[in-house]
Amino acid sequence: MIAPSEHPDFDAHAAVCFLHDAKTGARAIVALHRFDPTGTYPSVGGCRMRDYATTEEALGDALRLSRGMSSKCAVTGLPFGGAKAVVLGVPEPSARRAVLDSLAGFVNGFGGRFRTGVDVGLSACDVETMRTATPWMVGTGPIRPDALTADGVFATLKRAVRHRLGRDGLTGTSVGVQGLGKVGLRLAQRLLQDGARVLGGDVDRAANEEAAGMGVEIVDPATLIGLDVDVLAPCALGGVIRSDTVGAIRARVIAGSANNQLATADMGNALHERGIFYVPDYLANAGGLIAVAMQIEGHDEAWAHSQAAGLADRLDEIVATADSLGVSIATAAEQLAADRRAP
Ligand code: NAD
Repeated sequence: MIAPSEHPDFDAHAAVCFLHDAKTGARAIVALHRFDPTGTYPSVGGCRMRDYATTEEALGDALRLSRGMSSKCAVTGLPFGGAKAVVLGVPEPSARRAVLDSLAGFVNGFGGRFRTGVDVGLSACDVETMRTATPWMVGTGPIRPDALTADGVFATLKRAVRHRLGRDGLTGTSVGVQGLGKVGLRLAQRLLQDGARVLGGDVDRAANEEAAGMGVEIVDPATLIGLDVDVLAPCALGGVIRSDTVGAIRARVIAGSANNQLATADMGNALHERGIFYVPDYLANAGGLIAVAMQIEGHDEAWAHSQAAGLADRLDEIVATADSLGVSIATAAEQLAADRRAP
């Protein structure tokens, strides 16, 4: 395997830690994109558990996700460094508790300078289990991160529809939601309440059934990327906008919760050239980080809700910068994030 510093996504990470518990076999990578060893600010990012094909694939995921967290902190103005933990391999149910204990031990090793919480592959229940062994779990406050994430996606999606389609509400607007998990399902619910027509698809049958019961028109998830809808909301995994898929997109707005939707940075320009309004994923899905900030900094629920709704105003700032510089929204957001990232 290549050294982390040789990886194309290394991007000057402060530290990349490979952790292994020989007793349980648990293996994890903690990537700390921005890290303050003096502890002035903690590095934050969720913990993802997946059956990665290779360690290199897991490393790439960790590096891109932690960098994305730094961007999220920068565009929201929240005073944390970006980080991420990825766990290599989903344990058998009988071994899960022991692996969670190992992970809690890894988190304790950072003494509060790295704080983590739920991400794909980990449940709220897993986080509660880890919390019994480490005080550094986040996203366990009164508002669940996935709920606030959906609220932020909803707010920025609605604002993007105003920018691109000139509509103030969502009545008559069609939205394709890819992935009907924790965030996708809640987003679908809010869109339906606002009068949108919601089409959606998940690879999980139970998720489709739950969404159908709510009024979502279920489609084959493989067709979602090219669906003839006004808005595409990627809420599953990253990398969906690639050189081989970008040409098929018919939506005029993209706003969703998935991290790292653009497989490569040049996809932002490709969308721009096709007239597709792309809400940078790390802005759209920053609600989860707001829930974490609420807990770490001791804010109340009203603060969290107003911050999530305020992500739409951050989008306006980015659009104004993009327009004045004549660049894509993705490029303007990257520039803003680079200017504001923690040292
Ligand atoms: P989740 O695991 O609850 O839901 C993801 C859903 O996507 C699952 O139901 C899964 O079956 C489905 N899926 C996987 N591959 C798919 C495919 N190819 N097509 C259609 N569906 C597919 O996760 P979540 O918490 O809802 O998060 C969704 C996305 O948002 C993730 O990328 C996550 O990193 C990101 N995100 C989540 C939060 C949060 O607070 N939960 C915050 C920020 C970003």
